[in-house]
Amino acid sequence: MSLGEFDLIRRFFQREHPQAGVEVGIGDDCAVLRPTPGQQLLISSDMLVEGRHFLSTVAPERLGHKALAVNLSDLAACGATPRGFTLALALPRADAAWLERFAAGLFALADAHGIQLVGGDTTAGPLNICITVFGEAAPGQALLRSGARVGDDLYVSGEVGDARLALEVFRGDLSLAGDAFETVRRAMELPRPRVALGQALRGIATSAIDISDGLIGDLGHVLTRSGVGARLEVDALPRSRILAAQPLAVQRLCTLSGGDDYELLFTAPAAARAAVEAAAASAGTRVTRIGRIEAEAEAGLRLIDEQGSTVPPTFDAFDHFKTRHG
Ligand code: ADP
Ligand code: MG
Repeated sequence: MSLGEFDLIRRFFQREHPQAGVEVGIGDDCAVLRPTPGQQLLISSDMLVEGRHFLSTVAPERLGHKALAVNLSDLAACGATPRGFTLALALPRADAAWLERFAAGLFALADAHGIQLVGGDTTAGPLNICITVFGEAAPGQALLRSGARVGDDLYVSGEVGDARLALEVFRGDLSLAGDAFETVRRAMELPRPRVALGQALRGIATSAIDISDGLIGDLGHVLTRSGVGARLEVDALPRSRILAAQPLAVQRLCTLSGGDDYELLFTAPAAARAAVEAAAASAGTRVTRIGRIEAEAEAGLRLIDEQGSTVPPTFDAFDHFKTRHG
């Protein structure tokens, strides 16, 4: 690149505080990491493409935060302890002011989780950010999508739907007062990966996934991988006061098929309710029981409202609420 690929890397991404477990970070052909003896390595990558996963107007600090947050969310969903990450970056130009702000958002979140950027790649091209995260868990402790069992409770962390509500406002399909919009916009641009909760649920949850593409779709992955069905109490889904003030159809759309929530959806045996509560308290994250795992033969996924009636998936009928990215 023109500013000098190596100057750019040195100036914005290479930092002077090497961490325990990182023998060689940025600057050689490979990073050299020392795994914790006896631990398994968990790896995940997520790519963010301008115009598809983020708007060109997003503040660079928030983009740096989100690029790492969505990756940490995958480690959280597996109950892994984050250890490090790499960053592959395509940049339309070497814009120092932009890079400085992007790096500030990225490293603030990295520091909050005690992880180091250990390598990557930098090239000219349409703005594209790909991060790979590395984490650890003891053998057999990783939370997987395949472990849900009939009779398990179904839970979700935090609140769902605000990121989708913000997207609808950006698209001009809905409008919100200024401070309400700022609040839901933060949910979309500054998701908080539930890393502490994922770790606290090791040995308690039977399965877990993070909600990136919408609760129903992501729950579907758990049900398919586990070979089970579920009953989902749609009115029990935790949502913000801002979303709760919207028409019911909008609430259903945003909570059920919104996406970009980065909350954890997980299952645990009914006998583990106190342990789930204790894990949530230790992580400082609210969790809500939203349904139950059933035998697959019964009906796949059943959506039930407060009155106990089956809810037809009417949220699909709002055709200006188009389905999002994959
Ligand atoms: P190579 O050509 O051997 O793959 P590069 O010249 O692309 O290596 O990169 C030089 C060093 O800078 C490597 O250690 C690489 O991991 C690191 N690096 C390149 N781009 C980034 C980036 N965006 N963030 C962090 N490290 C990077
Ligand atoms: Mg290279």
